[in-house]
Amino acid sequence: MTLTPGQLEVFWSDPAAAFASVYGITRGDCLAWQAAGYMAQCAELTTKGWQCRNPVHGGHPVATPDRWVAMRGKYSLIHQEGVSK
Ligand SMILES: [Zn+2]
Repeated sequence: MTLTPGQLEVFWSDPAAAFASVYGITRGDCLAWQAAGYMAQCAELTTKGWQCRNPVHGGHPVATPDRWVAMRGKYSLIHQEGVSK
């Protein structure tokens, strides 16, 4: 990733905002990516109503926040089948 001098300045004061600017996502998405431990979590609910704790296929870890945003709402290997009916 290449930062412009302006982006570099933002990076030191607000890393999340800088990442967001570089990857073209919102600052909130960038923070959520970090808070999720860089893991894209499966969007399926278990039979008990909890969100599935498995990562999305290829989503653990997700190297860049824009990919993470794109993976949101996708499913783990276990839940992939049956979803695409
Ligand atoms: Zn799942």
